[in-house]
Amino acid sequence: MSEPAVHGVLALGVEIAGARKAFGSVAALDGADLSVEAGTLTAVLGPSGCGKTTLLRTVAGFERLDEGTVSVGGRVVAGPGGHVPPERRRVGIVPQEQALFPHLSVAANVGFGLPRGPERAARVEAMLELAGLPGLGGRMPHELSGGQQQRVALARALAPAPSVVLLDEPFANLDAALRVTIRTEVRRILREARATAMFVTHDQEEALSTADTVAVMRAGRVVQVGSPDEIYRNPADLWVARFVGDANVLPGELVGEGKVSCALGVLECRGDVAATPGNGQAVQVVIRPEQVRLAPSPVAGAVLHDRQYFGHDALARVTLPDGTDLVARGTAANLPPDRTHVSVGCDGEVIAFAATAATPAATAT
Ligand code: ATP
Repeated sequence: MSEPAVHGVLALGVEIAGARKAFGSVAALDGADLSVEAGTLTAVLGPSGCGKTTLLRTVAGFERLDEGTVSVGGRVVAGPGGHVPPERRRVGIVPQEQALFPHLSVAANVGFGLPRGPERAARVEAMLELAGLPGLGGRMPHELSGGQQQRVALARALAPAPSVVLLDEPFANLDAALRVTIRTEVRRILREARATAMFVTHDQEEALSTADTVAVMRAGRVVQVGSPDEIYRNPADLWVARFVGDANVLPGELVGEGKVSCALGVLECRGDVAATPGNGQAVQVVIRPEQVRLAPSPVAGAVLHDRQYFGHDALARVTLPDGTDLVARGTAANLPPDRTHVSVGCDGEVIAFAATAATPAATAT
């Protein structure tokens, strides 16, 4: 499927199937599958070393696959049939170190990949306008802020009207405050250009807040693909639940269809295992910190401690009478002070996974 051309970009979908790539004995990609819909923004999220950059580089054509295929707009660009070189893939890249040419003006940077001709200057100015930097073409890169440089790098990638734009950790070098502004801005620019884009990140908050679709990678494979809400609410397994957000994991058992019993009592649950009839089956129960509801209690019971204040919210640890430790998140106003006795409840459904032989003891991350 392709989107209509906007700003000269004809967005195309990307299909990666059974991608394998080894570096010596390291399997950087170990059978990765991913489908990216035209005109959407996909975050490739995973821990360091899981193969995110390698996946991006195989789409760009900078790495050759050992096995599997990459197709752009239905055309195989990597696979048994051959390897289309990077310059013929119509794929734009924003590298990790923005890598603007320091000795070239902003306009020359943006126009770098464009053919010489009368339309070049207009195209450069249109891209600068799209990037929210109209009229800054005459500046040198060092005369721009870090965020502006990031947008120039994106404008340069979009200028030749690529079918796909790839961004490798695009926000990694920006400070925390700027990162939030720039990712909103980058999203706006990509949306407005209706580009198909993939960006690599190991920051779950960045992936959830910026992308239309999140692809979670682990050890060379894509283990779950979905909207940010699907990934957070219905993680495929305990590893994804822990990686994408904070998770309290408690041992429990099914006590009825969609009901689980754990240290917080009998709770409603979802997850594959929740549909099986309650039979005392051992499960692992995931409770997000924002689900843990606390109220000061006049009687000795659970104790709140290690309260951490973050301005927009606060975190605290709670130790239940049986020794179970939980992390709770709330507004600073509704989290009781340190060393307070509290009653502990749970808001909403929890997520249950079948317990494995290696079921860990109750953990709070
Ligand atoms: P990070 O978030 O740390 O950048 P990543 O998820 O992007 O990690 P990759 O850079 O794709 O991971 O690397 C995957 C694995 O392949 C790692 O173990 C890495 O050391 C290895 N690797 C990647 N490129 C090469 C290379 N050119 N030569 C040897 N090993 C490599």
